[in-house]
Amino acid sequence: MVKYECNLKSGRFTMPRFITDTCIACGSCAAECPVDCISEGEIYVIDPSLCIDCGACQEVCPVDCIIEE
Ligand code: SF4
Ligand code: SF4
Repeated sequence: MVKYECNLKSGRFTMPRFITDTCIACGSCAAECPVDCISEGEIYVIDPSLCIDCGACQEVCPVDCIIEE
């Protein structure tokens, strides 16, 4: 698994957040993401190439299933 990657939007190195399979698909994280990089699904998925590592999603997740990779 890639630990660090260059974020093309911000031009800096970040550790994108990752959603684990305990996600209950509530949608709270996607509503908070400032760069709309979280996709809906059976579990939600963060696009690591767009995530700017702001942590907003992690703060609102009711089941604490968003982690730093
Ligand atoms: S850390 Fe910020 S930019 Fe990254 S997925 Fe969460 S809300 Fe979006
Ligand atoms: S806030 Fe947490 S439980 Fe809700 S969709 Fe996002 S990752 Fe899944």
